[in-house]
Amino acid sequence: MKKIIEKDKQFIAGTYNRQNKIFVKGKGSKLYDEQNNEYLDFSAGIAVNTFGSCDNEFQKAVKKQLSKLQHISNIYYTEPQILLSELICKKTGAKKVFFSNSGAEANECAIKACRKYSFDKYGNDRYEIITLKNSFHGRTMATLTATGQDDYHKYFNPFLKGFSYVEANNIAEMKKAVTSHTAGIMLETIQGEGGILVLNDDFIKAVAVIAKENDILLIIDEVQTGNGRTGKLYSYMNYNLQPDIITTAKGLGGGLPIGATMFFEKTENVLTFGSHGSTFGGNPVICSGAYSILSRIDDDLLKSVTEKGNYIMEKLTSYGAKTFGKGLMIGFTVDNKDNKTIQKECLDNKLVVLTAHDKVRLLPPLNVSYKEIDSALLIIKECINN
Ligand SMILES: *Cc1c(COP(=O)(O)O)cnc(C)c1O
Repeated sequence: MKKIIEKDKQFIAGTYNRQNKIFVKGKGSKLYDEQNNEYLDFSAGIAVNTFGSCDNEFQKAVKKQLSKLQHISNIYYTEPQILLSELICKKTGAKKVFFSNSGAEANECAIKACRKYSFDKYGNDRYEIITLKNSFHGRTMATLTATGQDDYHKYFNPFLKGFSYVEANNIAEMKKAVTSHTAGIMLETIQGEGGILVLNDDFIKAVAVIAKENDILLIIDEVQTGNGRTGKLYSYMNYNLQPDIITTAKGLGGGLPIGATMFFEKTENVLTFGSHGSTFGGNPVICSGAYSILSRIDDDLLKSVTEKGNYIMEKLTSYGAKTFGKGLMIGFTVDNKDNKTIQKECLDNKLVVLTAHDKVRLLPPLNVSYKEIDSALLIIKECINN
């Protein structure tokens, strides 16, 4: 293990503050290290492994396509990509989909489409996108600029023009920020990296009204909240509203890289021939895997996600924790221990959890069992009682 870690430090760019652990395999909500120690996985690779590690159906779908055709250029038609887009549209009411490889790319595509929509209709001078303070939208230059956290706005000057930031849940500030240059408003309904902060209903509904009244596009970033995580297929479905664009990634691919930007009525024809593209986007192997994931996120599963999430949050509250989130996107804090200490102690006790800002963050696979949940809760309880 020491050797691998030394080599990692020698050869991998030092962007990650890694935990001192090497995982070599997994099954469902279980992970195994080099000594074959078993861990409970309440991270799912940051909401990526929707049905846990090495899910049978996912593996079957991926392997089948892998032995037929692993890649072909987007200048040809491929069935897995088309089937996945059809399924997405059927389940969401979206009219068209653009496939990319990550959350940042899905948002990049949304930003481009938003600006083009406005350019096509109103000309050159209407391009501004309002995002929220404390948001996270990705690591490319445009999505970093969109990310409303000062910490991310260092080193890489100049950032893009045409972004402004509004405090989450502040309707008055949002109204003030809208100008004749505003083309879009982009937000996460639950700020994930920002610390599992659930936006309030009134704010989201007010933003939707402001957007609609001014022909400003409402872009919902569902990269982390999407694909069943919050107990709805996409988290905006928790509110009675219709976005113009939604973006997703993480859980859609079940562990393989995919991003999707979904266009609704207003925006379906904005991207035209030559205006965007991707070499790998819509790769047939990945789309086959994603299809097997998305087709299983049905009403029964979504109901169970809500129930399991409520169960976990009730238990955590009874241990004295403050809880945040929806479905199986959960954050918590306790008074006597900081989140990094809890994360480390949980790992020492064979439970993998994440952090987000000051919170401990739990993102288990959506099919985690109650037995696994109880085992994890026991570890957390002992950790916060000691
Ligand atoms: C993770 C995340 C992204 C970035 O996704 P990548 O796949 O890392 O590019 C964007 N938005 C939200 C809300 C995220 O949680």
